[in-house]
Amino acid sequence: MKRHRNVKIVATLGPASSTYEMIRALSEAGADVFRLNMSHGDHAEIGARHALIRQVEADLGSPIGILADLQGPKLRVGTFANGEEELVEGQEFRLDLDDAPGDATRVRLPHKEIFDALEPGSSLLVNDGKIRLKVKECGANFANCIVTVGGVISNRKGVNVPDVVLPLAALSEKDRKDLEFVCNLGVDWLALSFVQRPADVIEARELAKGRAAILSKIEKPAAVKSFDEILAVSDGIMVARGDLGVEMPVQAVPPIQKQLVRKCRAAAKPVIVATQMLESMIESPMPTRAEVSDVATAIYEGADAIMLSAESAAGKYPVEAVTTMSNVAAEVERDPTYRDVIEASRKAKRTSTADGIVAAAREIAETTDIKAIACVTQSGTTALLVARERPRVPIIALTMVQATARRLCLTWGTNCFIIAPVNRFKGAVLASIRAANAGDFAEPQDLIVVIAGVPFNTPGSTNILRVAPCEERLIFASEPE
Ligand code: PEP
Repeated sequence: MKRHRNVKIVATLGPASSTYEMIRALSEAGADVFRLNMSHGDHAEIGARHALIRQVEADLGSPIGILADLQGPKLRVGTFANGEEELVEGQEFRLDLDDAPGDATRVRLPHKEIFDALEPGSSLLVNDGKIRLKVKECGANFANCIVTVGGVISNRKGVNVPDVVLPLAALSEKDRKDLEFVCNLGVDWLALSFVQRPADVIEARELAKGRAAILSKIEKPAAVKSFDEILAVSDGIMVARGDLGVEMPVQAVPPIQKQLVRKCRAAAKPVIVATQMLESMIESPMPTRAEVSDVATAIYEGADAIMLSAESAAGKYPVEAVTTMSNVAAEVERDPTYRDVIEASRKAKRTSTADGIVAAAREIAETTDIKAIACVTQSGTTALLVARERPRVPIIALTMVQATARRLCLTWGTNCFIIAPVNRFKGAVLASIRAANAGDFAEPQDLIVVIAGVPFNTPGSTNILRVAPCEERLIFASEPE
């Protein structure tokens, strides 16, 4: 489906958006990728949503990406005899492995690994950071803490431990079952929560066995610290600002977002900016001006995708939220300042033939009147490299591999078409001009740039560039085999 913007939109599905009609409406309004949140919904619900997305995809005749977001290790306190207790700043509070119900002085924290990793001075955050504890002394099965920010603590509230790398398995038992389930369903992307180290990503990749691309959610200080190594082993990144803003001071999130987006672009890997982008639209049909500005900022920074969470999963205005994002994106991308910023930040090192060819394609498109850059891509690598250039003209990504088309739905500016196998460059040029005409990117009198790697089926082999007229009869007459 031709979009009038380059940044992609990810919409999380949930109770507000689980019918065929709503998923189709979200797709038509501009959602390019749907996120299935494995923290909510059982396998039957997730499977039903997946099937509806694929039905919409078939009916609209355009690839749709599906991202399954694994819950990750969730740390929670136990229960209280009274259901809840009020903690007061300055008081002592003990966390331990004792089974007895909690009271105003202590509660069970059923994660031995945390006690193994804590040190005096470590912080513990409860209930999304609303309550803060500092460890005074600790042992193998307890931590005596001082309450530094008080509040009501209740049964099974979530706990974050920002300062230490926890010796936790990267994927919980639930994550492993969910991973197998969604990979068998046929999702395109797996998002990993609370990634701490590259080994977490490598482990998930081994379990996925190529069935889905791996996206690391950056939401822990340890992941920010090891970001370069995590990026190197990931296929994509999510700046998960919700938990990141709990585990780190909120004011640290915007600079981290900027740095991460820039590094992902340099590495030609898609990056999603996520969480609270249009939070007020859960209840209101109009966003706040600050939210519009936040969406615009992520687009100016060069993010590949922007994401809706509760706005589309549980809000009252899911379609309006997608439409708002789409309208903001179209406006930003029309702004000459956007082009200036995007072009000034084109800083990737070019080391390969493929890097040179995609840069040349962009330059030709900007020097003459070219309507689109078409690339034939098997693994998606060539399309990722073209997208990194952030060209002014549309990118047409042609692939024989359905999974590649669906994964590329997350990548800036790519318009994906699934084509019948081609084994000669002439076939690639023909497929390109047919897609350009069918997708309304060009008229027969126009020119497009076509790039491909020959022999086909060799990832990263991009080695041919051709400026082609969009008229089939001219191709038949002139194109070399
Ligand atoms: C986040 O924390 O920003 C995030 C996207 O993760 P989740 O929605 O799973 O909490």
